[in-house]
Amino acid sequence: MVNRGFAVIPDDVIASIRERTDIGVLVGEYVKLKKSGASLKGLCPFHNEKTPSFYVHPQRGFFHCFGCQASGDVFGFLTRLEGLAFPEAVRRLAERTGIEIPDSDPQRDKERRREKEKTDRIAALLDEAAGFYVRMLEEHPNGAMAKQCFRDRDVDDETAQRFRLGYAPDAWDGLVNLFRQKQRSPGEAEAAGLVVPRRTRDGYYDRFRHRLMFPVSDSQGRIVAFSGRALPSLEDDDDRDPPAKYINSPEGPLYQKGKLLFGLWEGRVSIRRQGWAVLCEGNFDVVCLHRHGLDNAVAPLGTALTADQARLLRRFAERVVLLFDGDKAGRKAVRAAYPHLAEAGLPARVVALPEGHDPDSFLREHGIDALQSRIDGAPGIVEHLIDQAASNSRGDAAATADAISSLGPVLKKVENPVEGRLYIDRIAQKFGVHDIDAVRQQLRRGIRQNRPKRRRPIEEPPPMEGPPIEEAPVRRKIDPLQGELLGAVLDQPELLESPEAEKIPEVLTDPDLRAIFQATSRQVGRREGVDASVLLDQIGANGASWWLEERLAVQLHEDLESARRLVRDVVPRLEKRAREMSAGQLEQQIRAARRAGDDALADRLTRERMALLRGALRK
Ligand SMILES: [Zn+2]
Repeated sequence: MVNRGFAVIPDDVIASIRERTDIGVLVGEYVKLKKSGASLKGLCPFHNEKTPSFYVHPQRGFFHCFGCQASGDVFGFLTRLEGLAFPEAVRRLAERTGIEIPDSDPQRDKERRREKEKTDRIAALLDEAAGFYVRMLEEHPNGAMAKQCFRDRDVDDETAQRFRLGYAPDAWDGLVNLFRQKQRSPGEAEAAGLVVPRRTRDGYYDRFRHRLMFPVSDSQGRIVAFSGRALPSLEDDDDRDPPAKYINSPEGPLYQKGKLLFGLWEGRVSIRRQGWAVLCEGNFDVVCLHRHGLDNAVAPLGTALTADQARLLRRFAERVVLLFDGDKAGRKAVRAAYPHLAEAGLPARVVALPEGHDPDSFLREHGIDALQSRIDGAPGIVEHLIDQAASNSRGDAAATADAISSLGPVLKKVENPVEGRLYIDRIAQKFGVHDIDAVRQQLRRGIRQNRPKRRRPIEEPPPMEGPPIEEAPVRRKIDPLQGELLGAVLDQPELLESPEAEKIPEVLTDPDLRAIFQATSRQVGRREGVDASVLLDQIGANGASWWLEERLAVQLHEDLESARRLVRDVVPRLEKRAREMSAGQLEQQIRAARRAGDDALADRLTRERMALLRGALRK
């Protein structure tokens, strides 16, 4: 994932990608932004808020949130929001801006490019297929059947469009003909999983026929697969076996089912903003939940949750709520998901739906408020597993012992010792075993029994850059007057060429602000305005960087004259303050000299103080 197939990306390439990416446009793809002076303003995608405190300053290539303190440049935005590693974000933006990232190995470069062209063509075929299925939903005579099926599930047009839901007609050659007309490569359509070669090897037929089509997107928003759900048969007397309820695309160059989550592309901004996701079982559940406003719902693709999927989700969510069917399979799925969620560091809670319900049927019967209150009151996943085990084992002593030992592996994943102790108490209470030591012993037995025969190699977690939001550092207080002064320079760097600016370095007595001032002066000579990320880079760990981040997000002086007025007003005030402070210090020194009997010194200091108060600065 990191830099594979690439040499380290050169700094100047990174810089030109940064310069050529309009941060306002990039952020605008995720967040609705409104103009606010020289900045753009919107609801922060990194924390949940009702009034906008998220600012983007396009000219400075910078964003900052006054609510959660997230800030950075285009790469920072993408790493945080999409959970990408830095080189990945650079590459993503390189593609957007059309900047080539050179590779030190031309052979490898060529291969990589050829590979990419091929996957791009396959992605284009999948996209065309999605468009075809959407059209068929409207135009095909049997499309109405598919539409009715959506309507039965309360899926409205807007949701259907967002997910690009479609209908694959009941024909062997729907897509085959479309691709033939457009002269697409049949081999690539096969690689895309859309068509299947005939057994006679003299052509292809459509993989998906008479099905509801759910496109599956990858983390770049490309459609990489489809999941097709069976519809009621069209023939009256059909003694053939009923078709499989779901058919999914086979894995291919773009698609590995264990590594993607359905709904993540559509829900990622909401998940990031709210900090949590709903994990449910199937794609219809996801669509229905999005339809009812839970647009942070995702689901694995027809399999149990994998370790990769848990880690993928962790890149966007800090917590997860499991919303599985209230049947035996649903309970099993919760148990299977637990170790992966625990290993990914995703705290989970479990909503138990009543037996016989799935999210969709529950929503239709009880409504979103009832579901929301179940979510709010949902127990943690470990409590849930303990309670489940206890309620399943009402019976003899042996069954109780087995049920307790089955919880051993679950508790082993609990890292916090206090939490662990509370769970043991809960087990004792739920199973009615009052000897804590006996409970412990039984849990340990369960761990031993569960130990794998051979040690698996330890999988390295993927690099985590950006998310989740770090804790805000302690802020050093910044003198407001000095801040205003430096802010004027940041807003209108042209000031540095006017005579008013000469005294600024003298009156900026805060060393951190002075360092920012100096870095700004150095930068401005070479560039028109202030480049936020370069500036922040240059000042490094500076006590005033929090101030700088906030100040760079907004522009208070939109014209030079306003900045000049501020300097003219503030510089004399700071000078006066400095004089008064020096005078105060002299006053003390004079008194000390008199006490010590050094009248000559006291007289000299008194003259100095008089001169100072008359207006000359003390040197
Ligand atoms: Zn924020």
